[in-house]
Amino acid sequence: MRTPLVMGNWKLNGTKDSVTALVNGLIEPAKAATGVQTAICPPVVFLGQVEALVGDAPIAYGAQDASVNTSGAFTGENSPVMLKEFGCTYSLVGHSERRQYHNETDEVVAAKFKAIQENGLVPVLCIGETLEENEAGKTEAVVETQLKAVIDLCGVEAFENAVIAYEPVWAIGTGKSATSEQAQAVHAHIRGWLASQNASVAEKVQILYGGSVKAATAKELFSQADIDGALVGGASLLADEFGAIIAAA
Ligand code: PGA
Repeated sequence: MRTPLVMGNWKLNGTKDSVTALVNGLIEPAKAATGVQTAICPPVVFLGQVEALVGDAPIAYGAQDASVNTSGAFTGENSPVMLKEFGCTYSLVGHSERRQYHNETDEVVAAKFKAIQENGLVPVLCIGETLEENEAGKTEAVVETQLKAVIDLCGVEAFENAVIAYEPVWAIGTGKSATSEQAQAVHAHIRGWLASQNASVAEKVQILYGGSVKAATAKELFSQADIDGALVGGASLLADEFGAIIAAA
């Protein structure tokens, strides 16, 4: 069976003091949740601090984005090689806020996915439809297109060593989570679509749900057959709340 993964996406939040308090507050919940993988994605400026605070505690960490380039004249970017040196296991890629505010197309996301994976990190590919697409009944087509861009560049086998996060854009930061039935239906569709290309990859890949996950809704989401954990934004900034989500997995 797939190991549950609960990952926090801190987005553009934190101070040196709040990072120290939050990581320290997660060490016990992460240790207590045997059989659950815990991970956090702080802003990269805090990675060195997170590395020191985590020590040998069972908390993996990653970046929220990575450059497609490994070094050179790319002002403002963070190389996947540098992320690896700071002990990152993961990097998010294609988060809807990157797609929306930084005009990242499916092709850009696929190229970043490739660079992240080639440099020894596990890409966490974020996919999901907007409210408009959802209301037009296009959810399945949208997630297929987003996945296909990566498969065209990297092959379906790339998902042997990657994570998928299904995050309906209308549920992110809105307090309006998809119901567990809605989420499960999309997760099952994603897994089935992957299975039509490679059954063993589809069976193994962790598919996380993201979008207003809270401790109160986590248990029900995690009880669904194809939901293997969560990518948590707002609620990951509170040690008790995030700890309770880890405990629910
Ligand atoms: P949210 O964010 O939990 O605050 O909705 C999730 C995400 O954007 O990853």
